[in-house]
Amino acid sequence: MQKAATAALRRLPSVDEVMRTAAAEGAVAGFGRSATVAAVRGALAEARARGEVSRDAEAFALAARASLEQQARPNLKPVFNLTGTVLHTNLGRALLAEAAVEAATIAMRNAVALEFDLGGGRRGERDELVRDLLCELTGAEDATVVNNNAAAVLLVLNTLAKGREAIVSRGELIEIGGAFRMPEIMSRAGARLMEVGTTNRTHKKDYAGAIGPKTGLILKVHTSNYRIEGFTKEVGARELAALAHEHKVPLVNDLGSGTLVDIARYGLKHEPTVAEAVAEGADLVTFSGDKLFGGPQTGFIVGRKALIEKLNKNALKRALRVDKIRLAALEATLRLYRDPDRLAERLPTYRLLARPVKELQAVAQRVVPALAAKLGQRWSVKTAPCSSQVGSGALPVETLPSLAVAIVPAGRGGGGLLKALSNTLRKLPVPVVGRIEKDALLLDLRCLEDVDGFIANLATLTSLEGSDALA
Ligand SMILES: *Cc1c(COP(=O)(O)O)cnc(C)c1O
Repeated sequence: MQKAATAALRRLPSVDEVMRTAAAEGAVAGFGRSATVAAVRGALAEARARGEVSRDAEAFALAARASLEQQARPNLKPVFNLTGTVLHTNLGRALLAEAAVEAATIAMRNAVALEFDLGGGRRGERDELVRDLLCELTGAEDATVVNNNAAAVLLVLNTLAKGREAIVSRGELIEIGGAFRMPEIMSRAGARLMEVGTTNRTHKKDYAGAIGPKTGLILKVHTSNYRIEGFTKEVGARELAALAHEHKVPLVNDLGSGTLVDIARYGLKHEPTVAEAVAEGADLVTFSGDKLFGGPQTGFIVGRKALIEKLNKNALKRALRVDKIRLAALEATLRLYRDPDRLAERLPTYRLLARPVKELQAVAQRVVPALAAKLGQRWSVKTAPCSSQVGSGALPVETLPSLAVAIVPAGRGGGGLLKALSNTLRKLPVPVVGRIEKDALLLDLRCLEDVDGFIANLATLTSLEGSDALA
């Protein structure tokens, strides 16, 4: 055993020999000497472990270079989102408008007047960059921006209800994707949760009965990712605002997604806009930057000046603040809302939501034959009507009519084969993410805009691991 191993060792080239090859020199140019030496050692060690007896130094250099190339691929890869969920939290939610991308790029490359009043040459406030726009578009007196909407809710609760009570309806104690649970956020913020009403019905008198000297605020939460239907009752924001103000406590409305425009114009069901929530009398309104707003990950808080000033004085604000890159993207996105008629052209979220099925049919005409040719006889590739959804807890029940490429095994043995195929598609250079529904792999075309890129990406389909599913 020992002897055989030593013999194999002798039959492998030395690290120096491998490093002298042209392929190794190329690797050094691309990845640096120390990384290349480490990769060569790795390639030799693997051969030794396999008991290999090759003297081919060039082959080891090529193996080392291949592994360096593999390691150099980014972990955060672009993917084709063909899930049918436009704002997919696990795929990064909103795609940014070109104007936002440009603004963020400029901010990355340059010093910017982030907290610097160019008029007076004095220290300024970073929120001032977007405050006027936010106030103009929402009708609020003042506004501030933090890391995300979860942070916005945390900051509001901690500032207005620490050591006090926050009144919430039992029908609105939401959980948003695991880590964000309203009762949890409350306790982290140091607020005592005062639940009122029942899961399906909460009345004005329930709120009224809970208000006392310890009340910090009343919180209304938009049940953005579920609907309670049937025998239900909730107290509207306007009525709740009147009650809150009668008792001199603030009403906070967590809108979740929040939109600045009426999305009914894109064929979706009307969602309350931020301006509506402000007009209904909420003292503070919180919403996300990367849901229907269509910008970078941020949390907005808009509302009364005196309250926003309090939030800005909380030390937590500093921990939750937004960097210059996102602020730049945010400002550029906000500016697009000044021309709502052209939003669907400029803002990818609305462009994708508003995309007519006719346009998807044109995409399908190119994608179906390309996929069919690659997948071969064992698969049936057809178009099928399907439903897209907005995602990210916006409009949970509403769907958009859409079009998918439905891929079904031509013979028997469905389930396993479908999983293998979807696995294979996720391993393409630009991973393709679809969804399995019933007996088909559906590739919803709503978010497929780069059709040429999609087809070129299929070139390596047969040479992939797991491609026996394609045979
Ligand atoms: C999505 C959502 C949140 C959390 O917002 P993030 O921006 O994801 O942090 C909070 N409240 C509601 C009602 C939501 O829909």
